[in-house]
Amino acid sequence: MIEIANLHKQFGKTEVLKGIDLKIAEGNTVCIIGPSGSGKTTLLRCLNLLEEPTKGKIQLGDFSLEFQDHKRIPKDTVIKFRQQTGMVFQGYNLFPHMTAVENVMEGLVIIRKQSKEEARTKALHLLEKVGLKERANHYPFQLSGGQQQRVGIARAMAMEPKVLLFDEPTSALDPELVGEVLKVMKELANEGMTMVVVTHEMNFAREAADKVIFIDKGIIVEEGTPQQIFEQTKNERTLQFLNKLI
Ligand code: ATP
Repeated sequence: MIEIANLHKQFGKTEVLKGIDLKIAEGNTVCIIGPSGSGKTTLLRCLNLLEEPTKGKIQLGDFSLEFQDHKRIPKDTVIKFRQQTGMVFQGYNLFPHMTAVENVMEGLVIIRKQSKEEARTKALHLLEKVGLKERANHYPFQLSGGQQQRVGIARAMAMEPKVLLFDEPTSALDPELVGEVLKVMKELANEGMTMVVVTHEMNFAREAADKVIFIDKGIIVEEGTPQQIFEQTKNERTLQFLNKLI
């Protein structure tokens, strides 16, 4: 469903992604792991055009985009493409002056032009799904980090994206709140949502991923099932990275 070919991203003279090739099948959960600064977040941000790649191709559903230096993608294409994806950020990024339900409704009303009643019904259903129906009328400051992140997930799902992108969704959380967010993500994975997750949570990758991508210095060093990466790898760089985590 998603096909990335020879993707490059340069910031000034620094090449951060050096030719990424990746296929993601519909309904799969792909976890991207790798050392700090290896390009994981940049790759994820390229996938919804928060960063515009310097070179390469991205195919997502009906969209096929080709990137070339100095040739910008038209803004309306970027907006339409981005609407195929939902992004869950490390820092939640909720609107602080809106309640949980209003945060989830916002895109439905403003972008999808749904009536407020219709949007509220859908938003409440999604909040129920992430275990937060009782907190629907709370403001972000009245919610724990884990609850805010679950609102963030409900908000991303509201737009019915083809793929959900997660950028280290639990790394800003206190350890005791990580589990509740990972549980929601696992449920989504089991329901067949297509997800790409940049994560330092190796247990999540082990349990929920269909495919694990190990990226280092802007290239995919190795990809495989969790078993292949975590238990059977013979690749020195992968082993070095995994050994440091133990
Ligand atoms: P971490 O695990 O620490 O979040 P990462 O693997 O997600 O790291 P990226 O955030 O993708 O790594 O960053 C890869 C490299 O690109 C880093 O050296 C970073 O400094 C650089 N970089 C990222 N964004 C920009 C930017 N907007 N301008 C310049 N350099 C950038």
